[in-house]
Amino acid sequence: MYINYHCHTARCGHADVCGDEEYVRRAVDNGFSILGFSDHTPWPYRTAGYAPRGTRMDVAELEGYVRSIRSLQETWGHVIRLYVGLECEYYPDYLPWLRRTVQEQGLDFLILGNHWPLTDETGARGFAGATEPEAVTQYGALTVRGMQTELFRYLAHPDIVFCSYPSFDAACEQASLSICRAAKALDLPLEYNLYGVDKMERGIVRGIGYPLEAFWQIAAAEGCTAIVGLDAHRLTQFDRPTRFDEAKTYLRGLGMRVLDALPGLDAFPKP
Ligand SMILES: [Zn+2]
Ligand SMILES: [Zn+2]
Repeated sequence: MYINYHCHTARCGHADVCGDEEYVRRAVDNGFSILGFSDHTPWPYRTAGYAPRGTRMDVAELEGYVRSIRSLQETWGHVIRLYVGLECEYYPDYLPWLRRTVQEQGLDFLILGNHWPLTDETGARGFAGATEPEAVTQYGALTVRGMQTELFRYLAHPDIVFCSYPSFDAACEQASLSICRAAKALDLPLEYNLYGVDKMERGIVRGIGYPLEAFWQIAAAEGCTAIVGLDAHRLTQFDRPTRFDEAKTYLRGLGMRVLDALPGLDAFPKP
């Protein structure tokens, strides 16, 4: 059986245009026993009129998202366990809102996916487009601060900053070390991201890419724990679940502990 806590929905605007149930059905068809939805978090932006299209849902859609996954758990609970969570940026100005939202919506989990520095309202380039060492250093520092909030169950694609970066230089090594040491200290798993694997296979990555062996060697040397995630934006990403086995074999070969499931998530219905 396979387990995945990283799945988006059509609400983010850059995933397959399909209903949430299609992801559940596809997961069941491919032998998944746990599916966690972690769509990109909406943010209550302070910049008047700012509403990024194709990046994330609106705040107004959040309640319907949570309701949809809960309702699917009612229908599909006999064959798969569903969780509803969010993939969050490290946006310190909006953390009070996020903490409140977790309570109000009764979310099961959050994962940290650090795509933009502090907020995307400024039009700053995303970390997946980083080409300068300063951006890598900034990514490392902000990611560690995000991890230290202790809001998150794992760090998604910890090496995404290498997506467009030309070579593994001193800034990359230092950022990797900072992230891995913080992960070890906080006992926070690092996600080996299969969407990155897809992108590498399709040859659409401009830089050294992710997942990056140099990063995972450091993670192994620092004694970090790994978890494998689909980061599903396409239904077809569920169709080759043996990639989970391959990734686990690879990570264990590096000497890493690999989690099969996140401990301590309660299934619906909540008491
Ligand atoms: Zn992400
Ligand atoms: Zn994601």
